[in-house]
Amino acid sequence: MQQVFKIARHRWRFLWEMMLLALSGMTLVYIGVFAAYELHFFEPNKDLQLSMVESQTIENVGIESIIEWGQMMIAVHYPTTTNPAVNQRLRQYANDLVNQFKQTEAPSGHGHAELYVSFRTYKSGEDILGFQFDLIERHASGSVKNETQKLSFNLRTGDEVAFDNYFDENNQPIVAQTPNPEHARVVTPESTENKKLVALTFDDGPHPEWTNTLLDILQRENVPVTFFVLGSRANHYPDIVQRAASSGHQIASHTFNHKNLTKLSPSDMRYEIDETANIIERITGGKPAFMRPPYGAIDQAVKDAAGTPLITWSVDPEDWKSRNTEQIFTHVTDHTTDGSIVLLHDMYGTTVDAVTKIIPEMRSRGFVFLTVRQLMDARGRQLENGGIYRQAAP
Ligand SMILES: [Zn+2]
Repeated sequence: MQQVFKIARHRWRFLWEMMLLALSGMTLVYIGVFAAYELHFFEPNKDLQLSMVESQTIENVGIESIIEWGQMMIAVHYPTTTNPAVNQRLRQYANDLVNQFKQTEAPSGHGHAELYVSFRTYKSGEDILGFQFDLIERHASGSVKNETQKLSFNLRTGDEVAFDNYFDENNQPIVAQTPNPEHARVVTPESTENKKLVALTFDDGPHPEWTNTLLDILQRENVPVTFFVLGSRANHYPDIVQRAASSGHQIASHTFNHKNLTKLSPSDMRYEIDETANIIERITGGKPAFMRPPYGAIDQAVKDAAGTPLITWSVDPEDWKSRNTEQIFTHVTDHTTDGSIVLLHDMYGTTVDAVTKIIPEMRSRGFVFLTVRQLMDARGRQLENGGIYRQAAP
């Protein structure tokens, strides 16, 4: 009996020692794997720096990004939702875009091929989300391709549904989100040699729908413009201002609340100017170089307080009044001359529609589009703070 007990005790001790041995073995393996990971033994491709960025900007819709710096510059942003099946489909879609682009670029070897994909989210009721993807492909050959693709889903069932326009109870489309690819400086000034120059300017925005639609058009057409934004609205839609700035457009000040500055006390005027400059700086990283006083109302006090050159305009189709695409188009194309600054408003669909017609028409007449800054530089204008500039004729 005693012997049996002894053997049993012996066995327990043996098992205990085996367990300790196994535990320490597992710890060693774990440390090994961890070290290998830290030393990048598992990195799939050392030529590429690949990172996944995730952020949550609106309720229940997140953003993931495939960003690569290598032989190609790739910044593909795509949404994430609360439904894993939908997320799987979206991830697949984004990866397919990247892989297809890499395949088409592969034969031409290296160069500066770039792929940028941003998206906008449309929402309908609780369950339907629509995503509009804006694709910009710059091939090493120099060709640029812009494309829009759409996907939409029923979040409850996870099913893909036909993309439609999504309207709220006021019949207004809901644009919930417009992330901007950090590297997408897609609007670049063209050569001004032997060209007539014109600066399109847009006041009173940003507008959650029309400014974004306009930015899509300007991106597609490679037209840089100047936005004279209101501080109060920029505060509300910083993403749009950020998108405009990083797309190569100029962001200037139209003051905070659109008040007639000539009627304000000195301290109220200061607030209108300074608050807007601070907001623009916070969003874009730089103070605005120009101001356009609301209504073009300028007196000596405004000039003294401005701290920047004052930019007015030489062509005014009164787009905010007529809301008539044809009239806006005819007025602008009839009145624009070399060096004109055109006053428009990114607050109306009719204006945005007119711009889509104005751009090709003015180009066919030998005009090139510039920001106000680029226009003044191209014409060698020395601008003074408080000075008023309405155009830059040769
Ligand atoms: Zn205005």
